[in-house]
Amino acid sequence: MAVLSPSSVDLIAAFRAYAREHVALRADAWDENQEIPREVYTDLGTRGWLAGPLDVRWGGAGWSAAVFGEFCAAIGEASMSLLSTLTVHHMAMAMIAQWGEESLQERVLPELAAGRLLGGFGLTEPEIGCAATEIGTRLQATGDGYTVSGQKKWISGGQHADGFVLLTQLDGESTAVWVERARGGVTSTLIPGMLGFRAAMNTDQRFEDCPVPADAILGTAGGGFAFVFSAGLDLGRFIIAWGALGLQRACLVASTRRARSRHQFGKPIAEHQLIQRHLAEMHTDHRASEGLCRRAAQLRDEGVPSSLMETATAKYFASKAASRIADRAVQIHGAAGCGPDLPIQRYLRDARITEMIEGSNEMQEIMLGQYSISEYAGRSSLLPTGL
Ligand SMILES: Cc1cc2nc3c(=O)[nH]c(=O)nc-3n(C[C@H](O)[C@H](O)[C@H](O)COP(=O)(O)OP(=O)(O)OC[C@H]3O[C@@H](n4cnc5c(N)ncnc54)[C@H](O)[C@@H]3O)c2cc1C
Repeated sequence: MAVLSPSSVDLIAAFRAYAREHVALRADAWDENQEIPREVYTDLGTRGWLAGPLDVRWGGAGWSAAVFGEFCAAIGEASMSLLSTLTVHHMAMAMIAQWGEESLQERVLPELAAGRLLGGFGLTEPEIGCAATEIGTRLQATGDGYTVSGQKKWISGGQHADGFVLLTQLDGESTAVWVERARGGVTSTLIPGMLGFRAAMNTDQRFEDCPVPADAILGTAGGGFAFVFSAGLDLGRFIIAWGALGLQRACLVASTRRARSRHQFGKPIAEHQLIQRHLAEMHTDHRASEGLCRRAAQLRDEGVPSSLMETATAKYFASKAASRIADRAVQIHGAAGCGPDLPIQRYLRDARITEMIEGSNEMQEIMLGQYSISEYAGRSSLLPTGL
């Protein structure tokens, strides 16, 4: 694995200090209020941490994937709700940076990087989830641009977002477009009472004849899902894999401390072998997730095409491992893990969501099953000829 430079090590220490002081202490209150205050994003923007991996010419910091991964893990350890809203913001920026016209990039990216605008990502609709090619939201040409009409659902950060990259249909072709709230026609309705990511301000989004300028289309008509959104989802999986790693770490730290301090049957529960088995399983799941996340980051930094599948592998494993680890964390904590005084029950609720988003884990299984055939079936092997 790549060795981090001393300046990166300092930066990562700063991420962890920020997450401890400014996020972890507030995360339960955000969860209860089902909202993260806007000033949190302004503060991140002022620090230059709202667009770490974005190119410096648009106000980004040009972080490597390895450093960005550590940022995501630090935030995920403290609040997966915050990480989820940062995820869609980064996805929107990355799709505009990769597929947008120069005029759009120059107009919008510095605003997003500074936190003056917040971005969202709209694929899912009330009747369309995994089957992303059957989108109902329509983009229609007008004289000098387009209008968008349709409904998106479960949109992370939707309550605050100033703009959304939406998947639409233009004359029957899958097309990605950047839509700004300030141009009118956008209505957001908060969806309260989510299982997890409760502070992520998920919304039901309506778009009614929203005006869109001609330069707001990303990529080409027909390439909306195959190119633009698949690149966005790839980044989303990378962020959620690392965030799940951070959430796992939170569970392990809390559980090992609890196992040492809680006494039953005359000794710390850490000395009961069945508790040690829980800890051993949690540790092993965590280390395996860490290896996959670091491998995905290294391949991204090297620009290797297989980073896409390695990222999907990391997200698939780390999200499932986060659920297993959070489940064991609840068990080790007993009733205290189920109550309102500790964040353990939030960890379990949030871990479960990581298996659903950025392409559900069933979608990852389909992708990875196909990938594994191309990856292994043609390899030379030690099997007897004919098998
Ligand atoms: C907290 C949260 C935040 C979200 N944020 C966003 C957001 O910001 N933007 C956005 O666009 N969406 C967002 N979503 C929606 C999310 O992307 C979808 O939930 C996800 O894509 C699955 O779609 P669905 O819920 O409609 O499930 P469905 O498509 O109805 O699927 C239901 C189940 O069937 C499985 N399934 C479907 N098809 C197949 C198949 N062919 N083979 C095997 N299994 C299959 C699915 O994996 C799932 O388990 C969010 C969801 C949550 C919970």
